[in-house]
Parts: sequence; structure tokens; C-alpha cells
Amino acid sequence: MNALAATSRNFRNASRLLGLDAKIEKSLLIPFREIKVECTIPKDDGTLVSYVGFRVQHDNARGPMKGGIRYHHEVDPDEVNSLAQLMTWKTAVADLPYGGAKGGIGCTPRDLSKSELERLTRVFTQKIHDLIGTHTDVPAPDMGTNAQTMAWMLDEYSKFHGHSPAVVTGKPIDLGGSLGREAATGRGVVFATEAMLAEHGKSLKGLTFVIQGFGNVGSWAARLLHDKGGKVVAVSDITGALCNPNGLDIPALVKHKEDTGSLLNFSGGDTMNPNELLAQECDVLIPSALGGVLNKENASSVRAKFIVEAANQPTDVEADEILSKKGVIILPDIYANSGGVTVSYFEWVQNIQGFMWDEEKVNNELQRYMTKAFHNIKNMCKTHECNLRMGAFTLGVNRVARATVLRGWEA
Ligand code: NAD
Repeated sequence: MNALAATSRNFRNASRLLGLDAKIEKSLLIPFREIKVECTIPKDDGTLVSYVGFRVQHDNARGPMKGGIRYHHEVDPDEVNSLAQLMTWKTAVADLPYGGAKGGIGCTPRDLSKSELERLTRVFTQKIHDLIGTHTDVPAPDMGTNAQTMAWMLDEYSKFHGHSPAVVTGKPIDLGGSLGREAATGRGVVFATEAMLAEHGKSLKGLTFVIQGFGNVGSWAARLLHDKGGKVVAVSDITGALCNPNGLDIPALVKHKEDTGSLLNFSGGDTMNPNELLAQECDVLIPSALGGVLNKENASSVRAKFIVEAANQPTDVEADEILSKKGVIILPDIYANSGGVTVSYFEWVQNIQGFMWDEEKVNNELQRYMTKAFHNIKNMCKTHECNLRMGAFTLGVNRVARATVLRGWEA
């Protein structure tokens, strides 16, 4: 089942639990607008090359649409559609005044020079500038893009519309980015994990964690878990996997990765087979890399008691069923990784107010949002006698459905 079919299936199950009207169900499923543009740029050697860019704006019943821009060779309309829909439910679960969107360009960013990436970003922005905006659709970075990409988008957009810092989030601090944004998704993952463990009478201290992916989300989650007394016993990234049953020294590992670009040859741990990472014994498994990594081939070998989905869609539909039958508790992506979009919302608010918050305020507000969302999800679980994934979906879908009905149906 592809990502779009899996997201739509979760949506339909939530819709059934909520008893939504068929008309509303159909309206919520169909995207508000799908944009596909051709982006032709001169390469540094003067030859012309064309890429296809997408922006799917899924829903705006609760506010401007919000979602990342991904530069990756596998970007396709199905994936962008699925991620745009997930953003609609995610912003509603977090109770942000936003809808959902996602975009991307089918390219391999590491094969492009900095000036080629800048030209590509500017051409893409020229093609979509009429359809995005502070109160319409607010892009952010995603895989393959970063704060610099957002700076170019802001600059290009401002040529058409005047200085508009709130048109994108995830910007460099010097251009109106928020303090705390870089760590926000990993920090949100840790707040979400704490809220879930508290329900089970547990705290992070002394528990064991395995983390797949040591990029922005995985490395920040590892650092903060380590700071709070959690034992990170294994981590992996594209370069390989490492373990230490006594707990890895995460600050030293972060430094090693910064110095060498790799997790390998770290003196404080043993190299392990990356394929065995997800089956490593631990209390909490945190997939923080790719989608679809937990599937019917490996789900039965998982030995964690809890899974926290820091990546988007790491557990496929078959694995979800196998893990639930085993009694593994899964904290779903549309809640667990919502810390990033929540601090993006704080960035947007600061830009509109023209007033910068200090980092302590950002982090305290993030904790308040993550904790409140967890309790709201648990209430939905009780009402509908469902697991955390359906609790999150029913919470998000119900809020969007209510906003849609309140806006009215008459043309
Ligand atoms: P990133 O590019 O910074 O890091 C990705 C990490 O995954 C890297 O360490 C990479 O080496 C590793 N990786 C890639 N292939 C792997 C493999 N086969 N096995 C093990 N590790 C592998 O990306 P990120 O921003 O940390 O995002 C990670 C995930 O979190 C993605 O699914 C993304 O959609 C999701 N997410 C990110 C944010 C955010 O704010 N960055 C917000 C919400 C969701």
C-alpha cells in the first residue's frame, strides 16, 4: 500500500469512528489545490536543465496551509499528496490555526552546486508566488532543503510582494527565524515521549532508547534524552550503526559526527549491522530517518515496548497491525514529530507581531503544546476506545470537519 493509500485509510477509519457525513468525508479527502510547475535553470556550465516542482495545498478550513518543501529524487505527486494530507491532521492535532500543504522538486540536491540550488529555488518561487503567502500557504524546509533555501524563497517572494518575513518559516535567525527552531522537532519528540511514559508511571531516567537516523531530528532527540538521564544504547545513520549497552556518550558522538561526517570509528561504541538496529532490545525505539522502515518483514522482530514515530510514516499498515497485536505502544507521527511545525507557528507569530521571543519562552510553549495535545489524544482514545494513532487521527479530523461545517456549505 503506498503512502497516500495508507494515510487515506487512517483518515477513513477515523471518519467512521467519528460518524462523519459522506459529503464531508469526500470533501476532506480531496486536496484544495494541486500545483505542478516546470522549473528550467541554466547549470553552471551553461547547459539548460528542467525539473518538475509540486505544491499540494490540502485543506485551509482552520487557517493558512502549512508544510515543507522537499528536494529529493523520489518526490512524486502521490507522496506529496500524502504528506500534505498528513500536515492537515498534524496541525489540527497540535491545535495550530493552520491547514496542511507539502511541496517538492524532483532533483538530487547533492548533485547541484549552491548557485544551481539557488537558481532552482528562485525559479520555483517565481512559478508559485501567486499561490503562497503569509495568510495563504506558508512553506518550510524538509528533506534536502534548509534555512538557506527558505532565505532564497523569502527574497524571491519579496520581489513580487514586498518584504514578507512570515511567508516561510525555518528561516535563518538573521532573517526572522525563531530561536529553538533547529532543535524543535527533536525536542518535541522528547516532550511527547515524556507525556506518554508518564501515563505508564515511567520517566526517561534509566530507560533505554534506540534511534534510527542521526540527522536533525534523531541527533537532537538523542542529545535531549541523554541530558535528561535516558540511556541511548544504539543509533544509526546512512553511514552505519553503533551500540553500547551501557549507553552511548551522545555529546561525544555528536562531536565525532561533526568532525568526521560519520558515526563509524567512534571509540565509545561497537559497530553493528544496521539491519539489526530496529530489533535491538530497548524500552523505546525512535525511527527518525525514512518512511516505511517498519514493515511486515521486520515488525515481529521488534523488541521495544514503545515506538515513537519521529520520522513521517515509518510504520506501514501491515507492521502497525503486527506491532499492535504484540502489545507495542506506538506514538504516531502526526503527533510525535509535530514540534517542528509548532515552533514554525511560533516563528510566524513572532514575524507578524515583529517581536522576538527568547529561547526559554519558545521551549516552554512547545512543552505546553505537546503535553496538551497528548492529553487531548488520550481523551479521544477513551471516547472511541481506540489506540493512539486513531486517537490522534480522530482528534485532528474532527477539528477540521467542525471548522469545515462552521464555514458553511452554500456557495
Ligand atoms: P535529516 O536529513 O537531517 O536526517 C536524516 C537522517 O537519516 C540522517 O542521519 C541520515 O543519515 C539518516 N538515514 C538516511 N537513510 C538511512 C538509513 N537507510 N538507515 C539509517 N539512517 C538513515 O532529516 P531530518 O530533518 O532529521 O528528518 C528525519 C525524518 O523526520 C524525516 O522522515 C522527516 O520527514 C521527519 N520530520 C522532520 C522534521 C524536521 O523539522 N526536520 C519535522 C517533522 C518530521
